[in-house]
Amino acid sequence: MNYDTEKIRAYFPILQQKVYNKPLVYLDTAASAQKPVQVLLKLEQLHNDYYGNIHRGAHYMADKATLEYEEVRDKVKTFINASSRKEIIFTKGATESINLVASSFCEKYVSEDDEIIVSEMEHHSNIVPWQINAEKRKAKIVKLPFNDNGLLEIEKLPELITSKTRLIAVNHVSNVLGTINPISEIVKIAHKAGIAVMVDGAQASAHLKINVQELDVDFYAFSAHKVYGPNGVGVLYGKEKWLEEMPPYQGGGQMISEVSFNGTTFNELPYKFEAGTPNITNLAGFGAALDLVNEIGVENIGRHEHELLEYATQQLKNIEGLRIYGEAPNKSGVICFNINGIHSYDLGMLIDKMGIAIRTGHHCADPIMQHFGISACARISFGMYNTKEEIDLFMQALNKAILML
Ligand code: PMP
Repeated sequence: MNYDTEKIRAYFPILQQKVYNKPLVYLDTAASAQKPVQVLLKLEQLHNDYYGNIHRGAHYMADKATLEYEEVRDKVKTFINASSRKEIIFTKGATESINLVASSFCEKYVSEDDEIIVSEMEHHSNIVPWQINAEKRKAKIVKLPFNDNGLLEIEKLPELITSKTRLIAVNHVSNVLGTINPISEIVKIAHKAGIAVMVDGAQASAHLKINVQELDVDFYAFSAHKVYGPNGVGVLYGKEKWLEEMPPYQGGGQMISEVSFNGTTFNELPYKFEAGTPNITNLAGFGAALDLVNEIGVENIGRHEHELLEYATQQLKNIEGLRIYGEAPNKSGVICFNINGIHSYDLGMLIDKMGIAIRTGHHCADPIMQHFGISACARISFGMYNTKEEIDLFMQALNKAILML
């Protein structure tokens, strides 16, 4: 397929603008992807033409909005190849999806002295929910380390697993190291010992073809805003057998079957986990984003980003005193780095004034910073719309900033 970046860029009005009188170069898609016009139009259409609360209305607009909401569930099911729409729960985002599992799974299956293995390369959102819920149950968190190249030390997994291990929490792709983790391998080891695996797919879903049945994961979380959809919307995939057994995460409208002051019975899946009015409009927008990603092909997007990754990595390596964090052979379009004697905040600020948006800081992954003995680093990350010319502009800006600092 001929990857038409020009055509793709035309879908994103925000990319056409200038900042500080310079053409905008957006290299922060790992934080949040920009939104194509297809999504913006869908948000407008829903608000203008058929807005109503879903599942409970008895009128034309509510019915139409409900239909659209449930169609998006089918789109997500197909997007990640789940076996049933009952396994697709809509949430606020990856963070809420993980909190849901941490809360409901721990309540049902985790007790005193039990253990949850969490990888060292997790975003805070796949660490803290486990810490909070493990503490409530007097259970322990066990760290699965990574090495200096940014590879998980999978060979240590068998010795970390004990009869007390209940779940392994790991990301599919690290938002700092860019490592694409060998999820199938981890799942095989875990399942042999009867342990569930929760995968944080926030950095994978817009870059890799996700097949939850093939990966055989128990839970998979991601956010719409990183897949070119609106923010405030996310997905939790869970195997039906777990979701059936786990208690609801929140109480409220729609998640019940019957309520009386003598007690409540809960709705069937997936509604048992969808309390209250969901983000109806943004979910419709998410559907439009998935249509675009499917039209271009997530594998094609991933291939394009990989070319950018190789191109940028090669050039960065020529800069004296620059260290890249994360050099896994199987890597996604994310590069974190520091330059000797320069603080990444200063670098980010100067580069921003040249029209280039990068990210600096701890990237919500303090344990990774601690591993490398740093407090922060700079990150560039790629999306479907980035070009080699933009990387050239970034390199020029970086070299200029180095001279200034
Ligand atoms: N996990 C990873 C690896 C992430 O990069 C992020 C977002 N930076 C999250 C989880 C959390 O996603 P959200 O804030 O959309 O819930």
